[in-house]
Amino acid sequence: MAACGSSRVQDLRLAMVAGAQSLSAQGLNRGSSGNIGVRLDASFLVTPSGVPAEELLANAMVEMDFSGAVRGTGRPSSEWRFHRDILLGRPEIGAVVHTHSRYATSLACLQREIPAFHYMIAVAGGDSIRCAPYALFGTQALSDLALQALTGRKACLLGNHGMIALGADLPAALALALEVETLCAQYWSALQIGEPRLLSTEQMREVLEKFKGYGRQTSANI
Ligand code: 13P
Ligand code: ZN
Repeated sequence: MAACGSSRVQDLRLAMVAGAQSLSAQGLNRGSSGNIGVRLDASFLVTPSGVPAEELLANAMVEMDFSGAVRGTGRPSSEWRFHRDILLGRPEIGAVVHTHSRYATSLACLQREIPAFHYMIAVAGGDSIRCAPYALFGTQALSDLALQALTGRKACLLGNHGMIALGADLPAALALALEVETLCAQYWSALQIGEPRLLSTEQMREVLEKFKGYGRQTSANI
């Protein structure tokens, strides 16, 4: 990862404000629900606790080190533990987005994982999107359960709470959050009229393989 000079850190703070506001504009979060974390070199930035997206300011983003100490001032998101633990445990991840979006949260309230009802489930890295059991918000227990549900995946539901989406950077994590919410809405819709026919392990293996070369051409997939 490139070194985080002060202008890059300022750009990340501004991108977090824009990201939180885009989640709100897309209806993925309302009020002060949800939060965002972004990796710096040896620390991370997290949105402040209890501040609605519309009132967020770049300089209100809270910098923390990986021991959980605040660098500077500000009251970090109550969920700083899962932001820290994901960034610590998953070196390929640069950003964490948490939402209480309608469909993901509705399914999370059933503590129901999203099975391979649609091939796009593979965007989260596997053939299901798991749902972590319920734990109180802001606790180490919730962080531990979330990390477990995220094993080998870039998204999970949080029982009776919401969802988490990860990305190599903030745009990727925001895009995945929208995709997961879309998949949850489609799964919910399909459940209204019947029991979706699930893709097989082999069909999902094919999709996961094909995804490696899918998308805009980059040096990684030519
Ligand atoms: P914070 O405002 O403390 O980030 O809390 C919102 C939330 O979603 C808790 O799970
Ligand atoms: Zn939450």
